[in-house]
Amino acid sequence: MSRPRKVHVKSFGCQMNVYDSHRMADTLAPAGFTETTSPEDADLVILNTCHIREKAAEKVYSEIGRIREMKEAAARDGRHMMIAVAGCVAQAEGKEIIRRASTVDLVVGSQNYHRLPDMIARVQDGEKVVDTEFPVEDKFDVLAAPKRDVIARRGISTFVTVQEGCDKFCTFCVVPYTRGAEVSRPVEKIVTEVERLTEAGVREVTLIGQNVNAYHGPGPDGRPSTLGQLLRRLAQVPGVLRLRYMTSHPRDMDGDLVAAHAELPALMPYVHLPVQSGCDRILAAMNRKHTRRDYLDIVARLRAGRDDLAFTSDFIVGFPGETEADFRETLTLIDEVGFSGAYSFAFSARPGTPAAEMDDQVPQEKKSDRLHRLQAAITRHQRGFNAGFAGRTIDVLLEKPGRLPGQLVGRSPYLQTVQIMAPPKLIGSIKRVTITEVGSNTLFGALADEMHAPTRAAAGA
Ligand code: SF4
Repeated sequence: MSRPRKVHVKSFGCQMNVYDSHRMADTLAPAGFTETTSPEDADLVILNTCHIREKAAEKVYSEIGRIREMKEAAARDGRHMMIAVAGCVAQAEGKEIIRRASTVDLVVGSQNYHRLPDMIARVQDGEKVVDTEFPVEDKFDVLAAPKRDVIARRGISTFVTVQEGCDKFCTFCVVPYTRGAEVSRPVEKIVTEVERLTEAGVREVTLIGQNVNAYHGPGPDGRPSTLGQLLRRLAQVPGVLRLRYMTSHPRDMDGDLVAAHAELPALMPYVHLPVQSGCDRILAAMNRKHTRRDYLDIVARLRAGRDDLAFTSDFIVGFPGETEADFRETLTLIDEVGFSGAYSFAFSARPGTPAAEMDDQVPQEKKSDRLHRLQAAITRHQRGFNAGFAGRTIDVLLEKPGRLPGQLVGRSPYLQTVQIMAPPKLIGSIKRVTITEVGSNTLFGALADEMHAPTRAAAGA
């Protein structure tokens, strides 16, 4: 009997790549591939790349070098290992990847991975395959669904892509070039996917997209649906306990989505809303299409509907032309909103983007200094936010066993990690947890029922 084939998918970058990696593995399952966590054992290693970080392509080439050594070791054992490069770097570099690294067998763009089984058959016939065209068919229509046991293994919290691509063209960003124009999946197809996930035990679904709140997929009547309407529909799916979405753009934060936050208990009081800068001049140079005032108004509207909403954001410091005064406007915006966390980066030029060509690039030491100060401000707010939970009792969705025996790890509504001692049968349920200790990144607590029991006993109840 032939040995079952194994695939190892290594994800770089954002949650959209994690989702894509799962779907690649699902697509390869009918072709006889099972997933492995160790690349050394794999017959196929897929590097699912990200173009957002600095020198992304160079990092991919150095990773290919590492995998090439494994491929050579496999060949000495009489095994043929295939190497595929997928994702945004594959999309951007195309056949250049095989020219520079001839050990790579296959380059597959972000919109084409549903064709993987066919491409692999061609590689086995001795071809080097590059497929980065934007296809006419919708990959989501052709992708294989994951099996029930695979869904269960991936955990009770999962991502579902509802939208891809971006039409915004922020001047620093490669996404519109690597992921293409905004497209949204139809409501009913998303509902079917979520139903299948919840039947297999998933309890929390995070809808993802590069511009998720630009979602406009056709509803059952064929008319475009908003993200708010989609969330209302998904909240009715049996088994869905929690809904989240990311990443959103301030410009697409419409009244319907704001209303959904006020209406839907399943929609968590947490919004990741990138702002990038607090200075209007820099926002305009970034082509963000919103002002500082617009952003603050959105935050106020959302909080008017649900006052416990927590916000996180993305920031870029040292964008070309940013002065110290501009940067201070970002610091004051952070104080005004009081973010519970943020991703922050010093500007680094992405080849092919308008910002890479702009005059007035900020020196590295200034960028590093501003990044340090910005992160200190975010950390201060994050600590203050977390400290406010000491002694409070909150809902925690218990996700998985912790590192210690008897420990479970879950998430608060605001996406904080919470650790408690509790039996594994509680995984997948929401429990009231009283927070007893606040760490820098984690809250520690105990089941509220158990906290009350000794007190009642002491009182002779
Ligand atoms: S909104 Fe701007 S930063 Fe976000 S993906 Fe689109 S171009 Fe990139």
